[in-house]
Amino acid sequence: MESRNWIGGEWQNPSGEEMVVHNPSALKEEVGVVHFSETGDITQAGDAARLAQAGWAALSPAARGVYLFKAAGLLEAALPELAELASREMGKPITEMRGEVMRGVHLLRYYAAEGVRSIGTVIPSNEPGVLQYTKRIPLGVTAVITPWNFPVAIPLWKIAPALLCGNTVIWKPAEHASLTAVRVAELFEAVQLPPGVLNLVIGQGNRIGDALLEHPVLDAVSFTGSTATGLGIAGRCARRNIKYQTEMGGKNAAVVLKDADVAQAVAMIVSGAFRSAGQKCTATSRVIVEQSVYETFTEALRQAVEKIQIAPALDPNAYLGPVASAGQYEKVMSYVSLARREADILAEGGAAAGTDNGYYVRPMVATGLDSSHPLIQEEIFGPVMGVMQADDFEDAIRLCNDSIYGLSASLFTRDLRLAHRFLDEANAGMVRVNQETAGVEYQAPFGGLKQSSSHTREQGQAALNFYSAIKTCAISY
Ligand code: NAD
Repeated sequence: MESRNWIGGEWQNPSGEEMVVHNPSALKEEVGVVHFSETGDITQAGDAARLAQAGWAALSPAARGVYLFKAAGLLEAALPELAELASREMGKPITEMRGEVMRGVHLLRYYAAEGVRSIGTVIPSNEPGVLQYTKRIPLGVTAVITPWNFPVAIPLWKIAPALLCGNTVIWKPAEHASLTAVRVAELFEAVQLPPGVLNLVIGQGNRIGDALLEHPVLDAVSFTGSTATGLGIAGRCARRNIKYQTEMGGKNAAVVLKDADVAQAVAMIVSGAFRSAGQKCTATSRVIVEQSVYETFTEALRQAVEKIQIAPALDPNAYLGPVASAGQYEKVMSYVSLARREADILAEGGAAAGTDNGYYVRPMVATGLDSSHPLIQEEIFGPVMGVMQADDFEDAIRLCNDSIYGLSASLFTRDLRLAHRFLDEANAGMVRVNQETAGVEYQAPFGGLKQSSSHTREQGQAALNFYSAIKTCAISY
């Protein structure tokens, strides 16, 4: 398979560099070739999105929703094939990837249904003979910049509400999810979305990011990716005063109290930390355990981690597949080395024996670290977890909040009073009790506090607020 751009309803071959994609589970296998865009391609995509915007905005939300509804049906039909392509492109285990595509189907149907919901508010005037009300208007042309770790669900949770609200979109997926993006765009072509309403430009962020963010037609940017990139994008958007949303990194804590169901906590922490090889923004990467249950918990954790099966992503029994790319592998292995030098090791981690054919990293659990240590503070984005002891609940909350990030946090307890205190006091955008740090439902707001987010929210009704502006209207009669 070869990537192409989809601009103004036409498939085009961009003129930039090429990248051969190798399956991270089996490096000898070539999955396809990605052709990167240059500045001229971005200019064209912006112009096409601008040209299409007025016509698209003139349709009713219900009519726009019909396209999303049809795309949902096609995505569901394509589920096995698309999940397999994405697994081969970026290494997510196939069972998880199928779940992600199904989430995309639900998101499309959810936003299609939003098109027929009656929304709008009449605001009684203080003056006689005045009708005052609000209406939602589209923002205009929106750039959607997405990461590789959720190559289907994250783009769709941006594109679907953006289109439903009457915006047109320039979508730049991550380099390592380009082939999957082409297949997703093909679904919108198959439902005959009007030309220019969605435009796909494949490219390298550091090469075409400037052209995209400086394009004069741009009215809004929705970005998901690392905090370093996101903060740069936020600054540029603020200078132009265009609306932006940046969903960024995390260093999510799970807190285990002495009265927790240890078996439940271990199962959910292992899943939160090691599914998708720890490459989720909401992955559990810090575990804070009340001291009286520390020995019991860490022994149960050690046994559970030992049983984790490492396998190629397409193996239906794969619990832990490879990390996504050479860059990811090198970064994660540098933290593995650091842990070996400076931490006590509960689970060994490191390169998986006999799998030098792919980017496999065994699950690592490091202990004995102070909260200020880089392994506890920095987002590793791989199967490496740090475990700390807390004196009591107050100490656990202090450690939980000792982070520049504030995306997701979990507590394991049977004490209802402490559960509510945690939901109040944990400084994260998504706070959960007896649940994984990952896995927020698609109809609920998703996003973080502190350096994890620009404080806007994705998914559910919150996304409609981002992708629209409110006009206050008044008529004297
Ligand atoms: P990244 O920041 O390297 O790239 C994200 C996207 O931005 C890619 O499409 C990339 O090409 C583009 N990009 C890079 N530099 C750019 C620039 N200068 N201008 C414009 N675009 C640019 O992130 P990644 O490695 O793809 O993804 C991993 C990161 O994403 C992790 O930090 C993870 O926590 C985060 N993430 C956050 C969420 C969330 O909702 N908070 C969800 C998933 C992933």
